[in-house]
Amino acid sequence: MAESDKKTKKSKEERAKAFCSNAFAHNAFFLFDKATEIVKDYGSSTQMKQILDQMLHSILFLGNIHFSRYLPEYIFADVEMFHQTSEDFPGPFSHYQTHMALRTPFSYFLELVTICYGNDENIVKNTLSEILHDCRKSGDQYPLISTVICICESGASRYYGASLSCLSDQEREIMTAVSCVHVWHLNVSSAVMSVFPDDTGEPRSIKLPDTVKCRAYAVADIGQLKPPCKRCNQLYSLPGHTDHENPPGNCAETEAISNFFKAEKHGNSRQTLFRHNHQEEMQRMSNCFDKNMKKGMNYNINRVYPTQ
Ligand SMILES: [Zn+2]
Repeated sequence: MAESDKKTKKSKEERAKAFCSNAFAHNAFFLFDKATEIVKDYGSSTQMKQILDQMLHSILFLGNIHFSRYLPEYIFADVEMFHQTSEDFPGPFSHYQTHMALRTPFSYFLELVTICYGNDENIVKNTLSEILHDCRKSGDQYPLISTVICICESGASRYYGASLSCLSDQEREIMTAVSCVHVWHLNVSSAVMSVFPDDTGEPRSIKLPDTVKCRAYAVADIGQLKPPCKRCNQLYSLPGHTDHENPPGNCAETEAISNFFKAEKHGNSRQTLFRHNHQEEMQRMSNCFDKNMKKGMNYNINRVYPTQ
């Protein structure tokens, strides 16, 4: 990058930071800015542009449903940057108030990092932990930044996943319901839905092949292995678990294992989920979604971005 570009960029960031003393808006801006920088260095492609587009939509969507409601003008506080971003990515700006995000911004960010930096676990882990240096905390959490990532390893292949990084129970339940219906592999969705949102039924457990190993790390302490929670043992039969039970679907293991199944098994069987006897479960997800979505918001669990 030319020196003059660096200077321009720094001054832009500084201007934006001056406007956004708020942790959510600051991290939202920073995460997206970092993602565009990574793509610029790697070389832009249609695939990269699509991931950035969906990531930005997810940021604007989560800002909109946040209890403090952070609108795009607040996240992109610099007027010039706001106009440039809305020109470069018109879709997220016209759909964030009507269409659901499928995944969290951090999940898209992790995907970008693994595409651009490849399979090298240390590079991926270090890139993720380094971004914390420039992010802000709200209480004991970094808004929009996942606390844990997981690597699901099968032979020479590694599949990455991040925890849901939601600030409130409402937001987490909304994203879990949408993920069950639209995103996660059937096996994973089915396991999660057996105990979500009501933990009253008999859990449907997945047994991974013996050759597949999962390792999780806290982003803030990336060198230390984090054992699976009791819930992950219950749903994914992961050994060496703690006594702590996280909410179903929240853990990084969920996305990593889903990505493993999508890549190595029979593709993504979303159609099967809808064809067979899961109508009742779909209705439960829809009810959970409606219950948690704020009044007056114009979203539907089946109206998602990107639009079909
Ligand atoms: Zn867990």
